[in-house]
Amino acid sequence: MSTDQGPCPCGGGAYQSCCAPLHRGEQRASTAEQLMRSRYAAFAKGELEYLLATHLEADVPEAERRQQLRRSCRATRWMGLSILSCTDGGVGDLEGTVGFEARHREGLLRELSFFQRRGGCSDGDWLYIKALNTHAG
Ligand SMILES: [Zn+2]
Repeated sequence: MSTDQGPCPCGGGAYQSCCAPLHRGEQRASTAEQLMRSRYAAFAKGELEYLLATHLEADVPEAERRQQLRRSCRATRWMGLSILSCTDGGVGDLEGTVGFEARHREGLLRELSFFQRRGGCSDGDWLYIKALNTHAG
């Protein structure tokens, strides 16, 4: 199992002070970009429960989603993240998009992701809703 010491997979500094507090539920993402970075780090570290909690998919049973995520985390070795663009998704926003490029051992994934606050409320947690477009290279 990977250690919690060392740099955060998202590139934002030490894991302990970057995405770990979010993964442990001690802190919430204040922006869509922060949620995106923490979800990337969760993929890299196999934090399945965090991935489940930040992406609502009511039509797929949770056990199935957990299994899919576990498979995906095992199959892909993530190597780095670059944020390419952000639209809204700030502290005072209810939704926003984040464009990013995520490198893995076999290539890269470029995606424009859509985020919304839970329940459309200004104090709702940021959630990943869907990919607006995806490009694998
Ligand atoms: Zn991080």
